[in-house]
Amino acid sequence: MERTRGIAIVGLGRISINEMLPAFAQSKHAKPVALVTGDRAKGLKIAHQYNIPESAVLDYRDYDRLAQMPDVQGVYIGLPNHMHAEYTVRAARAGKHVLCEKPMANSVAECRQMIDACRKAGRKLMIAYRSQYEALDRTLVKMIREKKLGALKEFVSVNSQNMGDPQHWRLKRALAGGGALPDIGLYCINAARFLSGEEPNEVIGSTWSTAGDARFREVEESCQFVLRFPSGFIASCSTSYAAHKSQMFRLNGADAWAEMNPGYAYHGNRLRISRVVDGKEQASDIQAEEQNQFTAELDHFAQCIQQGKDVHTPGEEGLQDQRITEAIYESARTHRPVKLALPGRTRGPEPQET
Ligand code: NAD
Repeated sequence: MERTRGIAIVGLGRISINEMLPAFAQSKHAKPVALVTGDRAKGLKIAHQYNIPESAVLDYRDYDRLAQMPDVQGVYIGLPNHMHAEYTVRAARAGKHVLCEKPMANSVAECRQMIDACRKAGRKLMIAYRSQYEALDRTLVKMIREKKLGALKEFVSVNSQNMGDPQHWRLKRALAGGGALPDIGLYCINAARFLSGEEPNEVIGSTWSTAGDARFREVEESCQFVLRFPSGFIASCSTSYAAHKSQMFRLNGADAWAEMNPGYAYHGNRLRISRVVDGKEQASDIQAEEQNQFTAELDHFAQCIQQGKDVHTPGEEGLQDQRITEAIYESARTHRPVKLALPGRTRGPEPQET
């Protein structure tokens, strides 16, 4: 039996070209077999580089032809956020499993459509939450579950960067769904949830845009938010599109703290733990075998297809982050805390080691 699963890459932008396609080189279970792009010259160049036949370079207009391409078992959607729902639904109808970039979509309604379409077609829907496949994050999750930090109390996180071009799709509300919050603030929301294994039942948010800054005519420049969890665990987060790059979190338990700085990075994350040993505070670096997190994510997706297993970060995981995002915006608008009903299970089994 063919051990690898064929994946079509949809959208040849920065994440597809710089991270996802190179990540196939180390993959044991997935290979790129088709490209979907509006730029045929670019598509052909990349096809040659990755040994993909020219006939498998499709225009967006030909997307539904994927249904007639049995070599393609799954699609990876690396398109602007407003296209995620449509291209997921159409892939499912074409009989393909879907690995869709974060944020899952621009509204809860779109997330539900995507989940329904994949369920109806009997196809998997996985959201590309790469941090949940990253080695240091996985080591930390294990330590937390083994109670190495004691009961979790506080999570403090910043994920910020400077946006340049005011014309970029990320700064158009209809395309991006919002500003810093759904793009990079999302990492803080998701980390607070997957590290704690809890779901928030109340959120408080506020947004800010500097008057006259052409980048923030449509979307917020920054967002500060608090997520309250039923156990008393609390996450305080800040995200900005106009600040020097900063990607970190500190997770404080009753007995120890863990810090990732940088955290959320593509490569070179660093995890430190500090606790009292023999009456003295002692911080130490935690090592994990360096593994490309995009490869780990791809291999998980391909293995789940191959073995008929549930994915670790399904559509329900993306839907829950979108519910929280919308509640934060509502709180920012109304200047009030917003209560959230607890969801059912949002995550599948832990990814097995590959
Ligand atoms: P990008 O702008 O570099 O690429 C987008 C691609 O979509 C381009 O090839 C562009 O030509 C194509 N496209 C098709 N229709 C378009 C339209 N109407 N408007 C604009 N572009 C159009 O973006 P990116 O940084 O690669 O992001 C793509 C997706 O990946 C986004 O959803 C983003 O949130 C996500 N992303 C995820 C990570 C991660 O670490 N998981 C990192 C970066 C981006």
